Amino acid sequence: MLQLGDLYSCSVLRTFPELVTAGTMQKGAFLTFNAIRLLLNKIWGVVDSEPPESSLLTIISTIGNSKCIITTLYKALLEGICTTLPNVKARWDAVLPTPLSQETWITALTTIKSVSRNPRLRYTQFNYLHQSYLSPARIQKIYPHTTPTCPRCATPAADFYHMVWECQTINLAWQHVTEVTAEISSHTLVPTPDSCLLGIRHRTKAGKHTHRFIDLGFVVHKRLIATHWKAPHAPSYASWLRELCSRSQAEAQTLRSLQHRGLNLAGLETWDTFVVAMEARDDMYPP
Ligand SMILES: [Zn+2]
Repeated sequence: MLQLGDLYSCSVLRTFPELVTAGTMQKGAFLTFNAIRLLLNKIWGVVDSEPPESSLLTIISTIGNSKCIITTLYKALLEGICTTLPNVKARWDAVLPTPLSQETWITALTTIKSVSRNPRLRYTQFNYLHQSYLSPARIQKIYPHTTPTCPRCATPAADFYHMVWECQTINLAWQHVTEVTAEISSHTLVPTPDSCLLGIRHRTKAGKHTHRFIDLGFVVHKRLIATHWKAPHAPSYASWLRELCSRSQAEAQTLRSLQHRGLNLAGLETWDTFVVAMEARDDMYPP
């Protein structure tokens, strides 16, 4: 089983080709390697030095042969990193119509934990807040022979904000997703980058579970955008709705099992209402 220490040699994080040659990682595991490298760098800045002893290493060494090593790793990391990091807020301030107050930014950071119970969706929210996905413009700075244009609209210098918000096809998809999320949740929503990307909704009276549903709807769309990063079109609306419905069913199921154990029962009715509303739609499986 892969241990964090296996990735290091003489206190320096080994490169991916080195790990493949040594048989430590498989050729197809580059994305996993990159995700671990990115998180290590963000947390400790330790790509070129050994990580300090921490509970994380204890967690990794006690996972055993679990298949959930990456999920467990994400969860442990995300729970320890809801503090603000240098330059991250500044990147958003540079592109948003209005700069964020410190208080609003802290609210945005809390969404990493609140968007979903699912560690992968939390990690997606983390990557959006930190603008971690490499845009064509950023890749071109590293590899000058690549093209910095948007794969969807051919905008000449496609940065992260363009890829997740400004690009016309993506923006239209956001409008549609927001409109349907508003219909299902019976809550007025305006498609703004603050609300859709950062989870900030000003002066709202929606209940906690309605908020969680809206956050879930948006983060599912964000994950689809990320998984269709180089596609020539935006992710399909129907796949978003199916995914949201399935995750909402799972949420209702979790609340139901908690209820059976005599624990928390708040919100179950709300989630059931959302699931019924989605299942009644005729656009989940288009002809
Ligand atoms: Zn574009």
